[in-house]
Amino acid sequence: LHEANAAKTRFLSTISHELKTPLTIISGFVDLMSDSVDQFDAEHAESLDIIRKNAARLGLLINDVLDISRIDAGKLRIEPTVFQLNELLGELEKGFEQILETKNHTLVVSMPDDVSWLEADRNRIAQLISNLINNAHKYSGPDCEIRLSTAIEDESLTVIIEDDGIGISEGDQKQLFTAFFRADNEATREAGGTGLGLVIAKSIVDLHDGAMWLNSIENQGTTVGFKLPCVTSEPIEVTPDDAELSLLSQRSRLFPDTEWDQIAETA
Ligand code: ADP
Repeated sequence: LHEANAAKTRFLSTISHELKTPLTIISGFVDLMSDSVDQFDAEHAESLDIIRKNAARLGLLINDVLDISRIDAGKLRIEPTVFQLNELLGELEKGFEQILETKNHTLVVSMPDDVSWLEADRNRIAQLISNLINNAHKYSGPDCEIRLSTAIEDESLTVIIEDDGIGISEGDQKQLFTAFFRADNEATREAGGTGLGLVIAKSIVDLHDGAMWLNSIENQGTTVGFKLPCVTSEPIEVTPDDAELSLLSQRSRLFPDTEWDQIAETA
């Protein structure tokens, strides 16, 4: 069983890498053609836009499969940096505008009043929140509201995403964190997906030593939340002058008799 699982992981990893290479070439040429879109008639320009959007979608799917193979092999890593929560949420809000418009959905975001700094993997946190907003959007009927609320307590950030969509039956909720699992109903089939989003989301939360939960009632809606111990203080900016002086003080350890500060002033 162990060998079969290792073979599956290798297969997923190889196939997704192999798919990525031609897709990168297609996307590159589509971007190149998009640069001279004013030379095309409206119909061709629209076709090009469809190719571009679907190539981007395929890219995201391949990345999900790559992530799953990394998770399977225990090789998914995070690269934490310090960033502002509000800035990230603003970016996500903007990025989702067009997608939400297709179903006339409204995203109501409540952010902390103060600027909050997080020490976490920014891209992965964006991916985590995007997966959850995307699900709320995919599995809700038209004209709905999706609510994203945040809370900061001690050194932890809690994010909750709520929808009034189709919900998930109790039986299905038990299998949600199994890779490739998708609820067997018409709305889910229609929405499309791979059944990987929640598994990836949970792994990102785990890698940040956090916790994730999900409550859902069929035909009423779903609430997904996560809590991460990643709140930090504002990073200290190193001004160029400070940077120069600290470099000088390092030199002064090497050449203790040299008046580096005076040299810096006269320079
Ligand atoms: P995908 O959306 O690509 O199928 P996910 O792992 O994100 O994969 O979700 C797994 C399944 O859980 C979905 O197929 C869907 O049946 C169900 N699900 C996830 N989020 C929601 C939600 N907000 N409302 C209703 N069903 C959901």
